[in-house]
Amino acid sequence: MISRTLRSIGYKTKSDSVSISSLIESEKTKSSDNTRNFHIENQDTLSTMSTEKTDKPYNKTKNYLEMLVPPEKPQKDMLLGKAQPSQRDLLMVSVAPGFANRDGLLMHRDAYDAFLKMHQAAQQEGISLTIISAYRSFDHQKRIWENKWNGQQVLSGNIRATDIADPEERASEILRFSSMPGTSRHHWGTDIDINSLNNSYFLSGRGKKEYDWLKENAHKYGFCQPYTQRSDRNNTGYEEEKWHWSYLPVASVYLETYKDSVDYEALKGFQGWQTAKALSVIENYVMGINKECL
Ligand SMILES: [Zn+2]
Repeated sequence: MISRTLRSIGYKTKSDSVSISSLIESEKTKSSDNTRNFHIENQDTLSTMSTEKTDKPYNKTKNYLEMLVPPEKPQKDMLLGKAQPSQRDLLMVSVAPGFANRDGLLMHRDAYDAFLKMHQAAQQEGISLTIISAYRSFDHQKRIWENKWNGQQVLSGNIRATDIADPEERASEILRFSSMPGTSRHHWGTDIDINSLNNSYFLSGRGKKEYDWLKENAHKYGFCQPYTQRSDRNNTGYEEEKWHWSYLPVASVYLETYKDSVDYEALKGFQGWQTAKALSVIENYVMGINKECL
């Protein structure tokens, strides 16, 4: 079971600090005392963070990633953003006030736990990380997609999708920055948008410091930027998104499972769905990510 799960995780970091053997060791030595006690751990971390006490700071010398246990393979509905709330609530937790720009955001509990640790480390270096988007359901993504498809929401460059007659061209234009329902990594709760939805924000001043910090440090907490410059990704998939970070120890398992279990039959129920197959959205967009995030 362990080796199967580890094979499916295919996990590596920039520093290669997580080896298969260390994951096996952590699985062997895992007991009831560590990574599955999320609520307790989160509350502990939260109370530490919200009161800014330093009596129990995150121990930077301990490699957080070595403590991880690979997640179970997700159900197909979870991958598509269609999980029932009862099923979803087993995996997701609410982002506490102070870490997001609004109430009500949900995240996969493992990703949230890692984010809290990253947030604290960043804060100690004067870097502020605020989550501005996290989990999104299929229906939420459908609203975003259809608002663009119908021209109610203008696209990047002040274009309206309704000005583009050809359905595939219209979908392609929306796909520069937005996912089709059922194909977003935000469905998994593993992916978050941080601080701004404009690449230009991250090019200078405070935004540049934040982005530079993330590029240098996010991998230590398991986070990776899936949408780097398109030229680094065979010019496939979405445009660069400097704000979008993915928690790999879970997301890489989800992506593997997605590849095995989701096909174009599952991508229906929204306007323009007929273009999904013609545009190969699974191959080009879901899979068309930064290779370091695979
Ligand atoms: Zn995003």
